[in-house]
Amino acid sequence: MKTIIEPFRIKTVEPIRMTTRAEREELLQAAGLNLFKLRSEDVLIDLLTDSGTSAMSAAQWSALMRGDESYAGAPSFYRFESAVRTQFGFKHVIPTHQGRAAEHLLFSLIAGPGDVIPSNTHFDTTRGNIEAVGAEAVDLPIAEARVPALEHPFKGNMDLASLKTLMAARSDDVPVVMMTLTNNAGGGQPASLENLRAVAAIARAHDTPLFIDGCRFAENAWFVKEREPAQQDRSVSDIVRDMFALADGMTMSAKKDAFANIGGWLALNDDALHERARARLILTEGFPTYGGLAGRDLEAIAQGLQEIVDEDYLRYRARTNAYIVERLDAMGVPVVKPPGGHAVFVDARAFLPHVPPLSYPGHALACALYEVGGIRSCEIGTVMFGRKPDGSEVPAAMDLVRLAMPRRVYTQSHADYVVEVFEEVKTMRESIGGLRITHEPEALRHFTATFERL
Ligand SMILES: *Cc1c(COP(=O)(O)O)cnc(C)c1O
Repeated sequence: MKTIIEPFRIKTVEPIRMTTRAEREELLQAAGLNLFKLRSEDVLIDLLTDSGTSAMSAAQWSALMRGDESYAGAPSFYRFESAVRTQFGFKHVIPTHQGRAAEHLLFSLIAGPGDVIPSNTHFDTTRGNIEAVGAEAVDLPIAEARVPALEHPFKGNMDLASLKTLMAARSDDVPVVMMTLTNNAGGGQPASLENLRAVAAIARAHDTPLFIDGCRFAENAWFVKEREPAQQDRSVSDIVRDMFALADGMTMSAKKDAFANIGGWLALNDDALHERARARLILTEGFPTYGGLAGRDLEAIAQGLQEIVDEDYLRYRARTNAYIVERLDAMGVPVVKPPGGHAVFVDARAFLPHVPPLSYPGHALACALYEVGGIRSCEIGTVMFGRKPDGSEVPAAMDLVRLAMPRRVYTQSHADYVVEVFEEVKTMRESIGGLRITHEPEALRHFTATFERL
């Protein structure tokens, strides 16, 4: 059959509250033109993020009841630890309340002023945590990754020549090499196993550890299976094990590819670093067998990790985004190609060429999508990345709008609706103007800044 159906049935539903365009215009104005400040009940299709928004399975809800809330040594922890170890093979597993807490633990222990940490592309919280300890976060994506319309099977790859140059010049200042799988900020694009092997070899040649930001490891492994010739007959789980066998550790947000609503972990092999991380964990997150989570959360993650590598799920997951990208592309809306694993990315700089980057075309488009159709999306561009640590403001590499797909939440008619909203927005695009920021916090400004129209 040609139709790839949702490989699940719906047992519990959440109503969507309908709103009018006039209501939404008022609500957005009251929110300072920042979509993060809207109430979720005022949103029709919430594609702000795929983080923590997954629908849990019946098996996960059952596992919650088994959650043991003992302060120390709960069986829920051991089930969680075993699920992470089985999938990824690391010796030590430290639960954290979400991914950024794992990042904070890692970077606060191994990095400081004068250090530089390369990645294919750091995500915003990763970059934020690196900069917060005074180190420098450097993105080294392949050149193809910066051209939204260009088709390439592995736009999440690291540029190996740039990594070699950096390591040759400054390896003493590089405490860790990072790879983000998939590359969220770069369009949800995967890295190949071949590229990961080459990155690991360069890091190893300089005795530098390699850590994977593994938030979307299953989607990355699915694309490896689909697109990397040598991997097509292998199971996703085997590919996952191969990917992580190349690394010395990982940071993880269980709110992504573990189907959980909260949680994360830091996993690693180094005994001494584990000791130090555990001590810091007790200070900031909690005892090492719960790390800021409830026992029931650990159970939901352990079960979710088994479900996320299901290949029927991953085939449907990839198809959801491909379907929307194909239809937007056919309509002439500039999209990042090929489709990413967790989201559809629209090239707002190309869609609104009359809005200069420092007037935030991505944010302007995101506001229009909400007003016209009640869709909440997220700018990944100059609002998110334009403010530099020295206070200057420069255009980001790209101005994208991300429509992130919550896992197992929306159906095909929701996708058709999203496409229809774009048809409407396209007819009025010349009338969409830029914005300016009226208030911004010191760091991660996109979450709380307020805007006004120019
Ligand atoms: C979400 C995300 C993080 C941070 O995880 P949180 O659970 O949101 O703290 C880090 N890296 C990437 C690639 C992510 O997508």
